[in-house]
Amino acid sequence: MSNSSSVIDGDLAQPNNREAAEKSRTAASCRFCGAPLSVTFVDLGMSPLCESFLSANQINKMEPFYPLRVFVCSNCFLVQLEEYVRPEDIFSEYAYFSSYSDSWLDHARKYTDQMAHRFVLGTNSLVIELASNDGYLLQYFVDKKIPALGIEPAANVAKVALEKGVPTLVQFFGTDLARMLGASGRRPDLLLGNNVLAQVPNLNDFVEGMKILLKASGVITMEFPHLLRLMDENQFDTVYHEHFSYFSFITAERIFAAHGLMLFDVEELPTHGGSLRIYACHSDDRTKHVSAAVGELRQREQDSGLGRLERYAAFGENVKETKRKLLEFLIRARNEGKKVVGYGAPGKGNTLLNYCGIRTDLLDFTVDRNPYKHDKFLPGTHIPIFPPEQIRAARPDFIFILPWNLKDEIMKQLSFVREWGGKFVVPIPEVKIYT
Ligand SMILES: [Zn+2]
Repeated sequence: MSNSSSVIDGDLAQPNNREAAEKSRTAASCRFCGAPLSVTFVDLGMSPLCESFLSANQINKMEPFYPLRVFVCSNCFLVQLEEYVRPEDIFSEYAYFSSYSDSWLDHARKYTDQMAHRFVLGTNSLVIELASNDGYLLQYFVDKKIPALGIEPAANVAKVALEKGVPTLVQFFGTDLARMLGASGRRPDLLLGNNVLAQVPNLNDFVEGMKILLKASGVITMEFPHLLRLMDENQFDTVYHEHFSYFSFITAERIFAAHGLMLFDVEELPTHGGSLRIYACHSDDRTKHVSAAVGELRQREQDSGLGRLERYAAFGENVKETKRKLLEFLIRARNEGKKVVGYGAPGKGNTLLNYCGIRTDLLDFTVDRNPYKHDKFLPGTHIPIFPPEQIRAARPDFIFILPWNLKDEIMKQLSFVREWGGKFVVPIPEVKIYT
């Protein structure tokens, strides 16, 4: 490797540091089993942190980019990103407010109904949510008078939860906090986490923390995007720096088992392009029965090759093909004089736009319902973000839906674009136009 591609100061002055850096780069190890990581799952190049929206006075400054190279562990098949950025730098001030999506709120409300019924939760129970965000979910338990506690590291979103009357601790979760809560007698009957397991750099400490905290007869539910769906449907844009791990059922089961937890049920959900909701209990809890869904999904994943390294190594080629097709569409639209604007400013949109090199030359602007993002710019691509009303004013020919997992909801909200013949474009699993 030549010096020209590395950081000049540190490298030229301190060759030992360079060697050390090179060694640590090649010696990355699996965050679950510790085996060295050498097989690439997909390499999406360099990208900024996907939630680091820029204000007008920041767009002329330097912007940090980090690698988005995803590995698969050849020992346990955990698909993972190295920890390039500390969670403290990502999650302390977070721009994602769960309550800005109607369908996600609806999902949360239904979940609380189901769990309260299935596990007979009442005024003497305790529900703890890890990464409880703005209280989007726990508010429904609070409404039912079921005691709830949120744990959320981002102070700005936790503040919103507290204002809603949802008790919330502003902290990262792990074995330390679990011991502290356990010692104060706050052991949950239901311990849940939606889309947090993927975002934990120290996975073993997090899962061990759940083991320590959970009541003897308690239940853990975790939701996370399903790796099988990511691979089958080419959802490469769900890769970003905030997502350290990507789970199949079989890998999740192995990780939980290593910490004395057993998966006794699983549901497949449509959220985030296809997620799993796993149900776990203590391995020695004889009150739970393992559902048929567990064996069925385990077998389906084995049959589709998730126990073989070659299956993972083939993924990168599909991703390159998708990029070429998307650029072909956008370039053709531009050449024909069409106006294309975006809808949404989700994390996945930033991975997609940066990887494909789509800037204002191909996408005039995007819009978002979250006022926190208005008059800011997307990281890396510097595409401006406006309120949704801007679409009516601009009368675009195409609306490029970045949060494609919410496409039905968005197309309904924006049905007025048909007044002028506007159409929708969805990029994943492949470019598709909806009239
Ligand atoms: Zn591993």
